[in-house]
Amino acid sequence: MPATASANIGVVGLAVMGSNLARNLASREGNTVAVFNRSPERTRTLVSEHPEAGFVASESYDDFVASLAKPRTAIIMVQAGKGTDAVISELASRFEPGDIIVDGGNANFHDTIRREAEISPTGIHFVGTGISGGEEGALNGPSIMPGGSAESYETLGPILASIAAVAEGEPCVTHVGTDGAGHFVKMVHNGIEYADMQLIAEAYDLIRQGTGKSPAEIADIFAEWNTGELESYLIEITAEVLRQMDASTGQPLVDVILDEAGAKGTGAWTVQNALDLGVPTSGIAEAVFARSLSSKRAQREASADLPGPSGEWTVADADVDAFVEDVRRALYASKIIAYSQGFDEIIAGAEQFGWDVKKGDIAKIWRAGCIIRARFLNRIAEAYADDPALVALVVAPYFRDAVAGAQESWRRVVAISAQAGIPTPAFSSSLAYYDGLRAPRLPAALVQGQRDFFGAHTYKRVDKPGVFHTLWSGDRSEIETTPSSH
Ligand code: NAP
Repeated sequence: MPATASANIGVVGLAVMGSNLARNLASREGNTVAVFNRSPERTRTLVSEHPEAGFVASESYDDFVASLAKPRTAIIMVQAGKGTDAVISELASRFEPGDIIVDGGNANFHDTIRREAEISPTGIHFVGTGISGGEEGALNGPSIMPGGSAESYETLGPILASIAAVAEGEPCVTHVGTDGAGHFVKMVHNGIEYADMQLIAEAYDLIRQGTGKSPAEIADIFAEWNTGELESYLIEITAEVLRQMDASTGQPLVDVILDEAGAKGTGAWTVQNALDLGVPTSGIAEAVFARSLSSKRAQREASADLPGPSGEWTVADADVDAFVEDVRRALYASKIIAYSQGFDEIIAGAEQFGWDVKKGDIAKIWRAGCIIRARFLNRIAEAYADDPALVALVVAPYFRDAVAGAQESWRRVVAISAQAGIPTPAFSSSLAYYDGLRAPRLPAALVQGQRDFFGAHTYKRVDKPGVFHTLWSGDRSEIETTPSSH
């Protein structure tokens, strides 16, 4: 048992994420890492498998806290929700003012705001931080999105910077904002991840169904795409997944995996908060719903013989290369929309909760270590550097040009998928969103008319200021009014 306070950092929770993060911390010069897990077996296994890490192991909270040098800093990597609350309460009852409790799990940012408000009166700092990159990132360098106070970041920042991924010489960590800002941004990161994965899956499906190419052949296409503007971790691993053969059947593995996509909830949170904030993150929402639909086995079976386009859809041999290029461009344009929508949500969240989030810095810390790392995040960082008040990413010159170059392909792909009866909810909704943004006039005018008809909700006019209500059932004349409370 530790007798002295020798560790400068501690980790509580030694399942896959916590043990990898602890090993990452221990591998950096100057760190001595204290470790603790509720079930001591995990601690013993970690310590015996990694003697090189020099862990200071404890089997009780008292010993763990005693092993930390002041100001004490402990990172919690346990199951989000009740598990996190339990560990916070154990640490908070032993920590002193100036000590720092860091929650590195996938907490809901509302919980982080609540926890910070509960703990900060004690003088203990509470920092909710997003950590992305899965188990490999935790071990070798994740992208880290800490919230909490600026004061706590002075102590914590250098430790996190020492373990973060590095992109173009810069560590992938920045102080995102106060209280729940870090977990909010991590939530949106995951939402964008859902959209990106769904878009890639739709691209694969179109090419497979339209051209009959094998998964291995499509893997080659993705590998080729990964050398250009679409270069990203998700495109790279898609090629690997498609190339994988199943050992027991000899089939492509993708053909023996049940087509029901699971979800752990951060995508749904992104959409729920987008609805609360009134931000149209339609690409992310369609990606979340596409996973839900995939799991509705009974409904899918009952619907299998619903009428659809008759006959096989096949792209003519001579047109295959052009079709594949159309799909690539549609994917890039839709991906720009997904990121644009995600950044819109970050901007709206920052406004709502009073966070000074630097959008360009967020793009930079996503360039390495995290699941949505991609070449074009440099372009996003540049767009916000050129114009910090950019009203929408998609109107920045680089992205405007990129979509302009892709849009004919994008429209052809969405049209052909509708005609062929191939579901492309993320491609289609992204295009509809883009056209909604560009439209000089939307049918929202009619919706306002309907609202005023049944609920006296009033409307504004294009030709004069004021708020109006039409007397629909009487002489249909119009009266100027104050906004309705309906
Ligand atoms: P996990 O399966 O989410 O959680 C297991 C860990 O939580 C174990 O150490 C367990 O201790 C501990 N735990 C649960 N309830 C507890 C309680 N009441 N008191 C104390 N400890 C408790 O582990 P994980 O996959 O390593 O993830 C850890 C955190 O990182 C989660 O919040 C997760 O969402 C987040 N995260 C995961 C990934 C990923 O790729 N897996 C990526 C980013 C973030 P026992 O051993 O005693 O049961």
